[in-house]
Amino acid sequence: MAKPAIPKKTVALVLERDGGLCILRISPDCLGYASCADHRANRGSGGAGQALNQPSMLVAACGICNGAKADGVARDELLRRGVSLLPDSTHRKTALRALVTPVEYPSGRTFYLLDDGTREEVKNED
Ligand SMILES: [Zn+2]
Repeated sequence: MAKPAIPKKTVALVLERDGGLCILRISPDCLGYASCADHRANRGSGGAGQALNQPSMLVAACGICNGAKADGVARDELLRRGVSLLPDSTHRKTALRALVTPVEYPSGRTFYLLDDGTREEVKNED
C-alpha cells in the first residue's frame, strides 16, 4: 500500500515553525537549513498513515540528516530528545504519543508540537 505523501502545506508549516533550520543535527555534514519534514515515528507498514502526517509528528530536517536518521545514526540521542518516537500499536496511538512527548531543539529549548503547526515551550517550574 502506498504511503500518503506529506501535503506541501504541512511541510511549509513545519519548516516555518522550526525556523527553517534542521532540527536533527546528527550528521557532521548537516546543511543547517531544512528542506524537508522528517517523521518522528517510522511509518512502518499498514494504512492510516495520514495520522502520522500531522505537524506534531514532523520536524524540519536537511536532506543529509534525514538520510542519516534513516540509516540509524544517533538513534538513542534522537529518542532522548523526543525527535524520534517508538511506534505504538496503532498510528493513532503513536500520534497521541507525539502530542505528549516534547522535542528538545538544537538550541536546548524544549517544545510540545501541536497539530495546528504551532509549538508550546516547556518551562521549568522553578
Ligand atoms: Zn541536518
